[in-house]
Amino acid sequence: MAMEVELLKSMTKKPITLRYPFEKAKPVEGLRGRPIWDMEKCIGCGLCQRDCPTKAIEMMGRGRQAEFRIYYDRCAFCAQCVESCPVGAITMTKEYELAAFEHEQMRQEYRRPRTSPSKRSESKPESQTSTFA
Ligand code: SF4
Ligand code: SF4
Repeated sequence: MAMEVELLKSMTKKPITLRYPFEKAKPVEGLRGRPIWDMEKCIGCGLCQRDCPTKAIEMMGRGRQAEFRIYYDRCAFCAQCVESCPVGAITMTKEYELAAFEHEQMRQEYRRPRTSPSKRSESKPESQTSTFA
């Protein structure tokens, strides 16, 4: 009898599962999704690359000229880079749908604008270019 009662109850309730990907769950508080870099803040110290446990951060150059490649298929979403950054240039977003078929699609590049030395003082110091698909 108890089983019939449970069966009737479940027939009148809405399902607790979602029809993903058509329905999506709201990210929970504290979810660590894709980390992103703010090149305006970055001073190019290299601590994020040094401390990343999975070598997901490739850094080209140092200081204000430093640029990055981030490999999200290596990232463990541990937020160590956020902890290590002395200027708060890295943020963990709540973006969690990162699956892709190709390795190249899992890469994001952060570049700085190319300017000649004479024009450098006239232009904005840095900007971000994202190639992440
Ligand atoms: S979140 Fe962790 S694994 Fe991902 S880039 Fe930052 S330090 Fe590396
Ligand atoms: S730790 Fe922060 S300031 Fe240093 S290179 Fe990484 S993002 Fe830039």
